[in-house]
Amino acid sequence: MDHVLGLKCVLCGAEYAIDEVDYVCPKHGDEGILDVVYDYPLIGRRLTREGLSQDREFTIWRYKPLLPVAPDSPVPPLTVGWTPLYQADRLANTLGLTRLWIKDDGRQPTASFKDRASAVGVVRAQELGRKVITAASTGNAASSLAGVCASVGLSPIIFVPATAPQAKVAQLLLFGARVLAVQGTYDQAFDLCLAASREYGWYSRNTAYNPYLSEGKKTAALEICEQLGWEAPDRILVSVGDGCIIGGLWKGLKDLLALGFIDRLPKLMGIQAEGSAVLYHAWQSGTETITPVAPTTLADSISVGIPRDRIKALRAVRETGGEYVTVSDEEILAAMRNLARGAAVFAEPAGATAYAGLVKLAHQGRIKPHERVVVLVTGNGLKDIAGAMKATAAAVVPLEPTVEALQATVARLLGL
Ligand SMILES: *Cc1c(COP(=O)(O)O)cnc(C)c1O
Ligand SMILES: [Zn+2]
Repeated sequence: MDHVLGLKCVLCGAEYAIDEVDYVCPKHGDEGILDVVYDYPLIGRRLTREGLSQDREFTIWRYKPLLPVAPDSPVPPLTVGWTPLYQADRLANTLGLTRLWIKDDGRQPTASFKDRASAVGVVRAQELGRKVITAASTGNAASSLAGVCASVGLSPIIFVPATAPQAKVAQLLLFGARVLAVQGTYDQAFDLCLAASREYGWYSRNTAYNPYLSEGKKTAALEICEQLGWEAPDRILVSVGDGCIIGGLWKGLKDLLALGFIDRLPKLMGIQAEGSAVLYHAWQSGTETITPVAPTTLADSISVGIPRDRIKALRAVRETGGEYVTVSDEEILAAMRNLARGAAVFAEPAGATAYAGLVKLAHQGRIKPHERVVVLVTGNGLKDIAGAMKATAAAVVPLEPTVEALQATVARLLGL
């Protein structure tokens, strides 16, 4: 892995060789999040825009020279990444915008953005010869890890809060994971999982804590820029819980800037649910210190009281000139409806949250009509059917199985 120079602590700047530490900077306990440092001149000789334009590998592995894995490491067989970027003209019209794209990461193999991170995490675990992988999750990181593990014949140990939506738990069980349902919050499940990883030596696929996961997450930013012909958008909107996705996007954009593939950074816009807005408040107060909350939002994937990747998440927004924005659960439900009807993208609540943020900003006149805007949809609506049913005001029409009833009902429906 000659293209990886080391790991750098986001708190104190200390640098480590890649085989020196597993996860975090030893000087700060679990707080010392590390960032992977690359040799860009070397990578620039291996990865070019021209080379990519010929590359038929339509997965995150087209960017392998820019990922923290050895060039010859086997990768999971699942098709992770290269999700569609839809131009959404009808939605743009309703918002007074002209250039809007929706990137649908509900189209990943396990139906959430998390597959990008799990895929890189599993390759790292295999490079290290680790057989047991563990994660704590509100659902998607876990079901994703379980799916990617199943693709290579591993069975992870998963900590979920007992309140995780059933569809996500069903995925876990079906993929063959062992599932521990913690009778408490996601934050408690997270701490228990870290304790277990230390106690038993299991490989930790925990957000922020494991520095390789944000490297997987950054591939979404690489794809967005490549799909837009290397003309970076003006803004990328994304929902934020722990802050790992937005931190990852920032990393990907900085990589592309360092390689000269793009010439400026888009503004990163972090959208949080009002009831789980720790990073929004820290951003507003101009601090990197957070005040934990007891989160309340129906968007379970971003229901986070202690955002684990806070430093990267706050710097991503500050250093790109972006903003944090909050939206209510009502606005999230409306966004699910509008995304589904206006662009045929079926999102889970956290998946639609970024779009809810765009609606709010557009209505307040805070986005100019000509701006090029990308909204990232992070998870599929089938993940949370209860949430989807709340989002639709429509109801099914009961029908007796007779032609007479059919005629009467159609007459009523169509006003005949
Ligand atoms: C995990 C997740 C998020 C939030 O990502 P963070 O890295 O925690 O900010 C958003 N949406 C979905 C669907 C997710 O699974
Ligand atoms: Zn440190």
